[in-house]
Amino acid sequence: MSEQFTALSQALQTKGYRLTAAREAILQTLVDCGGHITADDLAARVRETSPNVGRMTVYRTLDLLSELGLIRPVYQGTGAAHYVLMHDGHHHHLVCSVCHKVFEFDDCVLGEIERLVCDRYGFQVQSHLLELYGRCPDCQ
Ligand SMILES: [Zn+2]
Ligand SMILES: [Zn+2]
Ligand SMILES: [Zn+2]
Repeated sequence: MSEQFTALSQALQTKGYRLTAAREAILQTLVDCGGHITADDLAARVRETSPNVGRMTVYRTLDLLSELGLIRPVYQGTGAAHYVLMHDGHHHHLVCSVCHKVFEFDDCVLGEIERLVCDRYGFQVQSHLLELYGRCPDCQ
């Protein structure tokens, strides 16, 4: 069982939600595929291993996980939202406006901004999703 799966299921239980068999199957599938998946694609994958988990259960679980800040919907183009995993409360993208490729980057420089908004606005940041738009090396 992966570290990420353990972290997600523990976070769920800490907030008072039971790890039902359906939720477990959905979380496991989400972690296995690394996120970046639409609700429909996830539902189809979950059905491969757990045929009794319905689409509505997948939708409701994604809503719940989003509410808890464990995943976030990302809208790219006009299609359905993709859900990304919030690794330790953050996730960063570089999005090319020309070829629409999405690059992941892990270097986080937002600690400073989180402290600043806390000082200035009294706002406690729990997580962030950062997307920077521009041109990738191939499209410059
Ligand atoms: Zn590009
Ligand atoms: Zn990503
Ligand atoms: Zn970050």
